[in-house]
Amino acid sequence: MTAAEAISSEELRELAEFRASRGVVVSLSLGVDPARAGMPAEIASRLDSLVAQGRREGRTVLAGVGHAERQAFDEDLARAAAEARSAIGAVSVACFADGPDGLWRSAAVPGRLPDVVKVGRFPYLVPLMSADLNEQALAAAVSRERGEIFRLRSGRLEQLVDLSEQQPRRHRDAEAWQQARLERHVDELARAHLGRIAVQLDRLVAANPSAGLILAGEHEHVAALEALLSHDARAAVVGAVRVEAHAGMAELERLILPLLDQKARQEERAVVERWRSELGERGRAAQGWTDTLGAACNGRVALLLFTAGAAGAARRCPICGRASPAGESCAVDGARLEIEPDALDLVIRLTLGHGGKARLIHDEPGLNAEDGVGALLRF
Ligand SMILES: [Zn+2]
Repeated sequence: MTAAEAISSEELRELAEFRASRGVVVSLSLGVDPARAGMPAEIASRLDSLVAQGRREGRTVLAGVGHAERQAFDEDLARAAAEARSAIGAVSVACFADGPDGLWRSAAVPGRLPDVVKVGRFPYLVPLMSADLNEQALAAAVSRERGEIFRLRSGRLEQLVDLSEQQPRRHRDAEAWQQARLERHVDELARAHLGRIAVQLDRLVAANPSAGLILAGEHEHVAALEALLSHDARAAVVGAVRVEAHAGMAELERLILPLLDQKARQEERAVVERWRSELGERGRAAQGWTDTLGAACNGRVALLLFTAGAAGAARRCPICGRASPAGESCAVDGARLEIEPDALDLVIRLTLGHGGKARLIHDEPGLNAEDGVGALLRF
């Protein structure tokens, strides 16, 4: 692991609201696929091209500014590149740097990120929002003694923590009264063991609130663990599978992976269904750039839906903040509209900045027919 950590929704919101004033923001994301971890030279050369591209972009954006600003930009780009380099072979990384304005954030992302470098007034958040949600899933295999926690990495389970411990056995030959006392003792130990697992899971879910969690084990242990979880961790549980206490990795993967895939597909389908039915009833939904941008700058977007093909430019009023796909001057205050080169990035920033969420939708013809963007609205 590198120093970079998963990014919280609060930090995302801060990034979404950040606007450079003295410097410019360097946003760099480098995708690392752990399944191909034997190719660090290939990743390093992708990073070199990204840095070269960043330097070219920087020259364009910083044309005509002073030496100090250009030097600050060079330092920011070098810092982001060094951070990405340190993660080669481990995880995907997204970095945001603007030294003159005091911005530095790097995030380790479990899924594969697109390789992107951008230089501009705002952190470029599209790559982070496009990471595969399923790649953040957690699973726990539990019994009276077992306590293994896994995360999903490139379609495989990878052990994160092992809290397994030996527990005393029940004694068959004990006197009846003694037996009862012993069993209570053993049950207390098992309960304490499950409690330690619950504490870890609570922490992991708190650090990564969008992670789904799958519990594996005998029914009684899974139920006891679930009861010990925090409210948030319990809400993150997307399913449970029944396995014997000593089930091996192959069996865990065989049962857990299809369940995760199925849950992700179901969730996406449910979201799209809700969006379609809200649209049909002219309810709380937006479709296409004009409606979605309009809703996003008013803080009405609860969940932004976008496809990989969503693209375009947008305009934004520097006075009132209203955003639209086209136009010269603001309909409200007459101010000359500023061009935003990337409408998707703008709508993501507006959504996150108002506390909404964003989600990449893999296959939805209705969304693609209208610019590849839409939203579920708060009001
Ligand atoms: Zn305006």
